[in-house]
Amino acid sequence: MFNAVLIDKSDSGQVAGLSRIDTSQLPPGDVLVDVAWSTLNYKDALAITGASPVVRSFPMVPGIDFAGVVAESSNPGFKPGDRVLLNGWGVGEKHWGGLAERACVSGDWLVPLPEGISLRQAMAIGTAGYTAMLCVIALEHSGVTPESGEIVVTGAVGGVGSIATMLLAARGYKVAAVTGRPAEADYLTSLGASSIIDRAELSQPGRPLAKERWAGGIDVAGGVVLANVLAAMRYRGAVAACGLAGGMELPTTVAPFILRGVSLTGIDSVMCPKPERTIAWQRLAQELDIAKLEGMTTEVELADVVSTAPKFLEGQVRGRNLVPVN
Ligand code: NDP
Repeated sequence: MFNAVLIDKSDSGQVAGLSRIDTSQLPPGDVLVDVAWSTLNYKDALAITGASPVVRSFPMVPGIDFAGVVAESSNPGFKPGDRVLLNGWGVGEKHWGGLAERACVSGDWLVPLPEGISLRQAMAIGTAGYTAMLCVIALEHSGVTPESGEIVVTGAVGGVGSIATMLLAARGYKVAAVTGRPAEADYLTSLGASSIIDRAELSQPGRPLAKERWAGGIDVAGGVVLANVLAAMRYRGAVAACGLAGGMELPTTVAPFILRGVSLTGIDSVMCPKPERTIAWQRLAQELDIAKLEGMTTEVELADVVSTAPKFLEGQVRGRNLVPVN
């Protein structure tokens, strides 16, 4: 028997809490992992609170990522004792996830722990950091270099935004950090942001084209914020869009695309092919300032996960929330 967060649904609604589970109840998979660390992400908060239909079947163990040690394996790629991590693949949505002391998954979903980082550090990075790196790589593929000009990062105090800011600054980009919490300006400057923009400035519907400000963007907000970011891109600027913290809609026009040659790249971390995720993780292990990462990390006990989840939806979370599991 082991501890797990479990979400269940009945006629009276959705309930989530800490439960005792037997290993025999785990879903099928060819690798059994003793989870060492998991994390809390925006998507986990949506799943746990039921604010969005993230969970596809009940009961469900949430947790879209984890790092741990292989306990049993019939997959030729893994053996007991191997240190592994997992992000996405529907884990925590349609397959029991990482907010539990054990997880049974397909070995195809596992990434070996990159050299140079611990299991704890891997989850301090987590899906947020891995997604931030996918966004940085997308901007690079679009030809955006530090010489191109300033990069705008939205939701900068959150998990993806904080790590995106750090990664870009470490590579020599100037970063304009957009936040709804201007009181966190010192925190953002410590991550490497060169200017702070109050989110209110981008929250009202604007003109199809605004003054050219940024050479690139990493957006976690969607909605009007993303529309305003697109409208203020410089000629041939590029935006990597990964989130919907500000809304699912995108009230924009084609003007930035057809008049300024702006490109918009969608980032999905969940089904991202393994070779790309492996490269992203290797780069994270090499490029991220681990000491700085520690400063943006808060630990949340497994027993406190359910009560902490609503804070994500209220926009109160700073940096990364790490869950010590074993
Ligand atoms: P966090 O909750 O850590 O950060 C989200 C941040 O968004 C908040 O801290 C806040 O930053 C900002 N924000 C909150 N409300 C609004 C609003 N109404 N308008 C604009 N910005 C807002 O979440 P994560 O960093 O983990 O995830 C961010 C987004 O990215 C989520 O939508 C998540 O679902 C998505 N995501 C997508 C992935 C993918 O594969 N595509 C993978 C990982 C995440 P501030 O206070 O600084 O403004």
